[in-house]
Amino acid sequence: MTRTHESLTNGQWRLRRRPEGMVQESDFEYVEEPVRALEEGEVLVRNLYLAFEPAMRGWIEDAPSYLPPVEIGAVMRSSTVGQVIESRDPEHPVGQLVSGMLGWQQYVIAPGELGPLGRLSPVPDGIPPYRVLSLLGTTGLTAYFGTHDIHPVREGQPVLVSGAAGATGSVAAQIARIRGASKVVGIAGGPDKCRWLLETAGLDGAIDYKGEDVGTRLDEEFPNGIELFFDNVGGDILDATLLHMADHGRITMCGAISGYNEKELPPGPRNIRQIVTRRLTARGFILLDHLAQAPKAIEELGRWSAEGRITVEEDIQQGFENTPKTFLRLFQGKNLGKQLLQIAEPE
Ligand code: NAP
Repeated sequence: MTRTHESLTNGQWRLRRRPEGMVQESDFEYVEEPVRALEEGEVLVRNLYLAFEPAMRGWIEDAPSYLPPVEIGAVMRSSTVGQVIESRDPEHPVGQLVSGMLGWQQYVIAPGELGPLGRLSPVPDGIPPYRVLSLLGTTGLTAYFGTHDIHPVREGQPVLVSGAAGATGSVAAQIARIRGASKVVGIAGGPDKCRWLLETAGLDGAIDYKGEDVGTRLDEEFPNGIELFFDNVGGDILDATLLHMADHGRITMCGAISGYNEKELPPGPRNIRQIVTRRLTARGFILLDHLAQAPKAIEELGRWSAEGRITVEEDIQQGFENTPKTFLRLFQGKNLGKQLLQIAEPE
């Protein structure tokens, strides 16, 4: 590895403007800048894989959230896996694979100007490096805590998961199976995703919300009502599901992607009073609050995967030039499993 900062230009995707409605590729702009020299305690990382999450749509809005908004003109924030190619920090030697919130850029100096978000975690040996962005990263951990700490899956009870062929939903549904749910049904968009849920992820039922009437199918799949609903989608699917919950049923409110690109949110859900009638418990959560427990969760998720009890699906697109396009795939329903982009090979 002979490269040093002197010979490098850093390609970056920066936020050009705040999206109105559906996020567009043109909301981001490509910029290049030279890579500066390292100071003591810093490392130069070459990003290899970028990870994409629906929450990133929220980060580019000028609205208070659990993280500050990405400023206009700033490099887009995202989790990545990279490789240390120059180091002035003995904890992170050259060649080490690391993960962090290093953003949509080819090179990054950490901690540099990234502050606490520039913290690097070494990637463990023995796994594909991008796995720390999928099963062993944000989405796998969200599925784990949602099915474990928020509303634990109870043996013998039926479970419904929306967004079930996505990164979080696919893991949540498979954990529900592992934890002894009597039946696990997933909702996803399109016959291919539904086939994957049944044939590869091993679910008991799949509902194609784009091609089937969700209410009718919920009646068929849950004649005695849904005991636990893990919701990634919100909107009409949440509304329909509220009418099919069992008495004292529980709803884990993980996300509501159906509304993330709406200019104005539609009123609803219309069936919210089912929470009273059916004595439901709906509970939201944010992964950040649970990170202290992450090592135990990572250990268990890694074991399930090694034992073949969880199928991990990563949708790996190629090429840094395709970064904004790959982000949009989440909102077009193009991804199966975790949406990633490979932008370089490890050396
Ligand atoms: P993902 O499910 O891998 O990808 C997004 C999927 O959402 C798409 O593939 C698409 O699948 C579906 N979708 C897109 N637009 C939709 C719409 N208008 N209506 C219904 N479905 C739509 O993404 P993820 O990273 O795993 O995130 C899933 C959810 O979990 C998101 O709501 C996210 O915000 C939430 N989340 C929450 C936390 C937390 O801390 N609470 C952490 C991570 C993620 P189909 O083809 O099936 O439509």
